[in-house]
Amino acid sequence: MQTIHNYNFSGKKALIRVDFNVPLNENLEITDDTRMLAALPTIKKVIEGGGSPLIMSHLGRPKNGPEDKFSLRHLVNHLSELLGGATVKMAPDCIGEQVKKMAGELKPGEVLMLENLRFHKGEEKGDEEFANQIAKNGDCWINDAFGTAHRAHASTAVIAKFFPNDKMFGYLIESEVESLDKVVKNPKRPLTAIMGGAKVSTKIPIIENLLSMVDNLILGGGMTYTFVKANGGEIGDSICEPDFLDTAKNIEKLAREKGVNLIMATDVIAADAFSEDANTKIVSADQIPEGWQGLDAGPESIALFKEVIENSATILWNGPVGVFEMDKFAGGSKAVGKAIVEATKKGAFSLVGGGDSVACVNKFDIASGISYISTAGGALLEYLEGRVLPGVAAVREE
Ligand code: AMP
Repeated sequence: MQTIHNYNFSGKKALIRVDFNVPLNENLEITDDTRMLAALPTIKKVIEGGGSPLIMSHLGRPKNGPEDKFSLRHLVNHLSELLGGATVKMAPDCIGEQVKKMAGELKPGEVLMLENLRFHKGEEKGDEEFANQIAKNGDCWINDAFGTAHRAHASTAVIAKFFPNDKMFGYLIESEVESLDKVVKNPKRPLTAIMGGAKVSTKIPIIENLLSMVDNLILGGGMTYTFVKANGGEIGDSICEPDFLDTAKNIEKLAREKGVNLIMATDVIAADAFSEDANTKIVSADQIPEGWQGLDAGPESIALFKEVIENSATILWNGPVGVFEMDKFAGGSKAVGKAIVEATKKGAFSLVGGGDSVACVNKFDIASGISYISTAGGALLEYLEGRVLPGVAAVREE
């Protein structure tokens, strides 16, 4: 398999699928360039190797063809700055004779930004002829957009067939896949997953898949109360999904069958309102009085979670174990984060992913103590559900 490490880019036009879907303000200025920064190592590698990067991405959600507010031309100057003043030309489209000519005329080190792929319906449809048209602009294809790797779009997957010997991952997607594989394939054991968040309904496929992989599964946050209720406990006004009581019972049964150590809160911090000013008390998770709701893990639960996490060799964290946005109910999630940092110090591999857990890591300022933080969202969740990602499979030929 070709890799970005060993490919000879000299004189080559390299089509790089990046995720430049950055937020723009009303003046069409970039308000957060994190995604552009993340793609720089791959773009620079092509330039340093004597090639010419052809950058392709989607931006926003154009409905019917070109719209100026979704044009990638708004990113051209900033990309040039980030590349230390490199020449970045703007193509009028992502396919067609004029674009092909511009690509052909690029000198080594010069960059061509192709126009928004989603100005064409063929992109999201995964249209093969459209993919072929894009492919004609370049000599090789690099997929560096993990955020769209779960989509079988023209530029993220279908295009691969036009580069059977000249396709590879970029650095970003490569490190994302390598990190996820440390959890999903051959993890060091014990492997512990911590799943939190508000609802169980949105996490069922992941929980079910994790039960075939993990040694320990900590379920925390709002979903706790659906399990407690399913077992006949008193949950007061805590968040609960009555339609999922059977699902909760099934998850417990599956865990027993698979020999997974399922851990949930035994005590909780109950509040008399969903508010930072609420009165609080520590109660047993299955004895929450009427008018009270469980909003965080209690001290006994935290000790239990800590013990399991600190004795793990691989750790996956997705979702807070309490309403971490309010300081009063952030203690459980903070303790989980700290335990993960402790385990990582002792040599464990830790991966945190999914919007809210990344927000937790930032709030508690512990990013440097975590092995890998994934910002991929949908693609990450689908990978953890055990699904094949078209954008990954297209490169690896899975
Ligand atoms: P999710 O998007 O499903 O990962 O849910 C994340 C949200 O779950 C966060 O905004 C938390 O505040 C919320 N959450 C965590 N624990 C609870 C709880 N006990 N009650 C209500 N919401 C919770």
